[in-house]
This record gives sequence, structure tokens and C-alpha cells, in this order.
Amino acid sequence: MSMLDLPAPYPWPDGKKSAFCFSIDVDAHSPWMWNNRNDVPELLSHLEQRRYGPRIGIRRIADLLARHDIKASFFVPAAVAEENPWMLPALVEAGHEVGLHGYFHELVSQTRDDEFTRVLEASIALFERQTGQKPAGFRSPAWEMTPHMLAEVKRHGFYDSSLMGSDTPYAVHDVTEVPVNWATDDAIFFKFLDGSDTRAPLGTNQMLDAWKEELAASRRFSTLFMLTVHDWISGRGSRIAMLDRLVEDVLSDDSIWVATAGEIAAHYRDHAAGRDAVSPEIPASLYDHPAWKGE
Ligand SMILES: [Zn+2]
Repeated sequence: MSMLDLPAPYPWPDGKKSAFCFSIDVDAHSPWMWNNRNDVPELLSHLEQRRYGPRIGIRRIADLLARHDIKASFFVPAAVAEENPWMLPALVEAGHEVGLHGYFHELVSQTRDDEFTRVLEASIALFERQTGQKPAGFRSPAWEMTPHMLAEVKRHGFYDSSLMGSDTPYAVHDVTEVPVNWATDDAIFFKFLDGSDTRAPLGTNQMLDAWKEELAASRRFSTLFMLTVHDWISGRGSRIAMLDRLVEDVLSDDSIWVATAGEIAAHYRDHAAGRDAVSPEIPASLYDHPAWKGE
């Protein structure tokens, strides 16, 4: 035995070798609301791009999921659910999971602890009003996290899906973590809001190639492939066509467990609890380190 030995393969259910989760962060116009909260501009172009999501994109994605008979996890900011009151009930009726994603897509680095707690509770209340049940999961806007947020997620008994400290489910301060992955998020490759964006969106063929490599790696190392797409970004036609091809590849392999984030979290708690549990601390400033101080 050496500390360099690979961990035992993750115990996916029913002899499966890896897992695939289709998740959707239904941001719509909520990040615009947050970014412009101090001074709302009289401008429509970003808003209209983003409102494509609830108007058309989410329906294209729901249609793709129905055609392939996949249940997905939709993380919805409460402001988006409030403005589109049909959304959460329709997603639940179609058999999908709905989870929390902030109220106004508030960024944790710009939110005080008491503000976070207040809007989290307002989000939960809105989900309960619209669906009749408390959601099981939380995904942080922009995937940042503070110790306070984690404590609140734990207090409510949610699983979290915002961090990247492993590539299979694990636990952070006793909160079940269903990890995300920037390499399998559409926004960083496709997001393009206006002419001031200097980087053109990636072509769908390049994206498909990259994600097929991620899928091959996920099979090889028995990890979770957490796909994250956005309503207003990947609800566009050519991206739906690309996702069709990715999903066909996933479904052609019986050894891949296709599950919602909630199902993956529940499986961890029931069958792998304690595996890879961590209690991360934020280190003190390096200026306090004896090597820096010459002690
Ligand atoms: Zn988001």
C-alpha cells in the first residue's frame, strides 16, 4: 500500500462503471438583474438574448430530454421561477428534478452572510409555493462557496453541486457534494453577449470532440460526467443538435449510469457515505507563515 495508490473505483449502482448527469442552470436574465442592481440600464439586447432561454431554449432542451427519455436536474434562480410561474410545475410534471440556484443569481463574493440567508429562505419558500415540495439540492451561482453558505446548505439538509474537489461524489463538512466541472460547462465555450466579447464562441464540432474526450475519460476513470448547460446558451438549434449526438453516445453505453444530481447525491448517502469526506479550512495569509517571516 502506498499513498500514491489509486482509490478504489467509485461504487456506482448496478455494476455501472461511470455516471452522466445532464444539468441545466436556468439563468435566463437573472445575472443581468444582479449585475445591474444598482443602476438598471434602458437597454434590451442582453435581456432579449437571455429571455430566449425561458421563451424557447428551455423548451428545446426539454424536447431533447424527452426524445432520449432522460431525466435532468434544472437549477433555477427563484427570480426566474417567479417571472415564469409555469416553469417549475412543468419541469416537475415532466419528471425532472428542480433545484435552487440563488434568488437573483447573487454572487457570493458580493453578498453578505445575512443577505444570503434571507434570499435562500425566500427561494425555498417560492419553490414550496410553486411545486408543493422543498427542493433537495443547491447549486451556487457561478459555483463559488463560503463557509457560511455551506453551513446554511447543511442546516437545510440539501446536497450541493457547486464545487470541484473530486470527480466523483464526496462530502464537504458533511454536505454531500455532487461535483461540477468547468470543462463540461457550456458557458465558458459558447457565451457571447456583445461585440465587446473578444473571443468568438467555440464551434459545435470542436465542443462535441472535447466533450467526447471528457466522456471517454469519465468511462476510463469511473468518474461523474456532470454536463452543465444554460437555457439561453445551449437552447440554440446547432447546440441542441450537438447535444443530441453527445447524448446518443452516452446512451449507447450500458455501463454509464444516467441519473439526476439528486439521485447521485442520494446514492452517495446510502451507499458511499463518508467516502472522500473532507473538512477544508481556508489557510491563513502567507504573511503569517514562519517561512515568510523568517522565524
Ligand atoms: Zn447560473
